[in-house]
Amino acid sequence: MTEKEIAWDFSEIYKGCDDPKITQDMEILLKRAEEFETTIKGKIKTPQFTLQDLSDLFRKIEDFHADLEEIELVCENTYNALMTLPENKALLNKFEDFNTIIATKLAFLDLEIGKFLNDNKHIISDPALENYKHYCENILLDFPHQLSEVEEQLIVEKDQYGIKEWSRLQGIWLNTQEYKVMVEGEEKILSYGEANSLFTHPDRNTRISANKAIYGLLGKHQEIFTAAIRNVCGDWMKTSKRRKFTNPLHSSLIVNDVTEDTIMNLMKTIENNVDVYRRYLNIKAKLLKLPKLSCADIMAPLLETPHKKYTWDDAHSLVTEAFNKFNAKFEEYAEDMFNKNHIDASPRMGKRNGAYCSSWYKGKSAFMLQTFTGNLNEIYTLIHELGHAVHAYLASRNQTPFNVHPGYPGAECASTFGELLLTDLLLEKAETPQEKIAILAHILDDAGQAAFQVSARFWFETSMYEAIEKGQNLDGETVSKLWCAGRDKIYGKRVEWFDEMIWEWTMKGHYYIPNFRYYNYPYVLAQLFVYALYRVYKTEGNEFIPKFIKILSSGGSQSLEVLGKLVGFDITKPEFWELGIKQYEDFINQLEDLI
Ligand SMILES: [Zn+2]
Repeated sequence: MTEKEIAWDFSEIYKGCDDPKITQDMEILLKRAEEFETTIKGKIKTPQFTLQDLSDLFRKIEDFHADLEEIELVCENTYNALMTLPENKALLNKFEDFNTIIATKLAFLDLEIGKFLNDNKHIISDPALENYKHYCENILLDFPHQLSEVEEQLIVEKDQYGIKEWSRLQGIWLNTQEYKVMVEGEEKILSYGEANSLFTHPDRNTRISANKAIYGLLGKHQEIFTAAIRNVCGDWMKTSKRRKFTNPLHSSLIVNDVTEDTIMNLMKTIENNVDVYRRYLNIKAKLLKLPKLSCADIMAPLLETPHKKYTWDDAHSLVTEAFNKFNAKFEEYAEDMFNKNHIDASPRMGKRNGAYCSSWYKGKSAFMLQTFTGNLNEIYTLIHELGHAVHAYLASRNQTPFNVHPGYPGAECASTFGELLLTDLLLEKAETPQEKIAILAHILDDAGQAAFQVSARFWFETSMYEAIEKGQNLDGETVSKLWCAGRDKIYGKRVEWFDEMIWEWTMKGHYYIPNFRYYNYPYVLAQLFVYALYRVYKTEGNEFIPKFIKILSSGGSQSLEVLGKLVGFDITKPEFWELGIKQYEDFINQLEDLI
């Protein structure tokens, strides 16, 4: 448990949510947005608009966004730390209204800049635009898929009452049902969040009951989920054709800054190596003293896991020690997050679930949120989010705002690497084989989910688009069959699935996000990429550290394909991904040696 309140302090930016400076700053930004409109709109054209003008405009937009980010950071995070306080909600609403006005006023910039670059492609290699080269390349990749201003506006308007509502319906339906679960022999009526958290309960019957209760009920309501997924996916097929994307995957490749070949090689590697994961599942069954795992056992804690409790100070010293063993800068930056109260970790009614880290460009720092109650997995969460913070410290010191944020796959480099550094330290400190077994099982469970289970979601999503393309009707039974086919490619016959589990796809919000598809493979990619990095670190030792720092300092100024070359990786080669698998196998070997 936390002894004192671990709450974040935004006084470096604003005195509090009633600070009059927030409104003043919004007014100033609004004037600046209007100035963009009056001085620039309609003028980004050759020949009068020069390269120097473009470079100056980029810098102006960057400054604007860095200022906007500070207001957003305080409004959003204050709300997330205490959602029940009306003034926090009022502040967030005020920001969101303000932000919509700004976005509408500045929407012309993307269209005009895109067209200008498309008409003058040669200029992106000009030294005057050197800092913005990769940024411009990405604009150019996306430009051919933009529609006319009117078509874009129509899509926004139609989506508001169409797919966005289907997506919301899925979330509301899931979260407003009552789930009847037997918790340690006692019947309880639970919310989705409460029932879902029992999937890792130490009592097996409780886990089984939670799975059956959730998916049994969702299966009864399958018509809702089927209609939502069918319409969101069907809409995407139509929209991506209109936008002239070559396939439903194409748009995500631009967003994630990767190529289709790389993703196909990655998924093939997973498919070729499912036996590695299945080997771990067999060991896990043995550790749980079961002849075969059921679906309720995949993420179960081990029977003899020592349930150690940690104080906040323990967590603090463990993560800083883990970072220090790697590099003094990492420790210094993490320590700065503690010293400046940039961490919100106390449990609190009305606080947002989960954990995240927001970067703060102007402060060259970050703010992170989690709920710490003293468990080992929460120390893993702490180092994961602090890894994101270290990444932000490094990138903001070396990049301008357009180049600071890595794409989704690159964003998980320092966070996942941090978890491995903590694993090294915990294994070193562990006093009994049981402790070591628990640590290794923890990371094998987590990486197993991120690399293998998430791959099943990739195949499932692809198969839905293929079915729509063939003119098949996606009814509940068909969607379930497609899900089970993807799932079974990973698990084979190693796991016993309850009948209710055919409806497992109903709850995953990622399948229903409008206009943002394939929220899956970046996790797989990041997991194997970081495992490969860790393997290089283990062989190269200190020689690896400056290269890793270079990768993190590069932020989003280069694609992961280019950054990987700094450590000798060629992520376009199919065999590259085997490196990550080897590391997973290595952890399994270590675990097997202990039992
Ligand atoms: Zn993360």
